[in-house]
Amino acid sequence: MKKLSALLLAVLTALLFSGCGAAKPEKSDKLNVVCTIFPIYDWTREIAGDSADITLLLKNSTDMHSYQPTADDFIKIASADVLIYVGGESDKWVKEACERSPSKSRTQINLIDLLGTKAITEEHEEEHHGEHTEEYDEHIWLSLENAAELTMNISKELGKMDYKNRNIYKENADLYIENLNKLDKEYKNAAETAKIKTLIFADRFPFAYLLRDYGISYTAAFPGCSAETEASFEIVTSLAKTADETGARYIFTTESPQPLVAETVINNTENKNQKILMLDSMQSVTEKRIEGGETYISIAENNLKQLKKGLDNDGNAS
Ligand SMILES: [Zn+2]
Repeated sequence: MKKLSALLLAVLTALLFSGCGAAKPEKSDKLNVVCTIFPIYDWTREIAGDSADITLLLKNSTDMHSYQPTADDFIKIASADVLIYVGGESDKWVKEACERSPSKSRTQINLIDLLGTKAITEEHEEEHHGEHTEEYDEHIWLSLENAAELTMNISKELGKMDYKNRNIYKENADLYIENLNKLDKEYKNAAETAKIKTLIFADRFPFAYLLRDYGISYTAAFPGCSAETEASFEIVTSLAKTADETGARYIFTTESPQPLVAETVINNTENKNQKILMLDSMQSVTEKRIEGGETYISIAENNLKQLKKGLDNDGNAS
């Protein structure tokens, strides 16, 4: 945090001395919207099309949990008309930057606040003090229902800020929500016809929202996006036992360079022949992938294919 504060201070000082505290560099007359992570960016460009200038902050493949904001990020935040962020543990720095910036973004949209009671709480026991704390699970974008609701809310906020384009935002949002709902139905169908009741995640687990929507139960090596990456013997044995009992042919992971935990789990099962399926949590989508045409929906469609294989437990699925 110390490092962050020093950087912030340096940027703010530079802004003040250059006398451009509230000035917007090369300001077009379009609404200037800054989004922290890819899913928010993608929803916003679906809503706004060419009617707004939309900037994505996290696009260099560092995932949001270990992201170190740059001086440039603070400048972009300070000059935004609308700033949209998750509002969880990982982008606390955004809130801090807003509070300390001399030229606050005019509208700040905290998505966890917007979801209200639909946000899932994660419970933590503080080891040192025996304290019990609650924190929101920040992976809200992995629920298609949330995506639809947040899309509607973002379009309303943009419409308030940019009245002349409000109908465009509304129409685009309505069309996009239809597509989200269509995909949501496909997920529901896949869950309803599932052959297997408990999915095994031998990895971090950012998918609580996704699986909750469809009533799919699971067992995971780590809660949320825990910083832990080495699973204990107990965890490995327990996941392997679940695979043996359910006859699971697939073990799930999320994007990580080496699925070591999953491989260890497989080696500890009776059959040792399960395949690994990867669900993309979209928290480290690179600029290159975005330029290649990937979207929130295309990634969610691909996740559905993977999820279906796991739920059908079909050994012949390719
Ligand atoms: Zn995460």
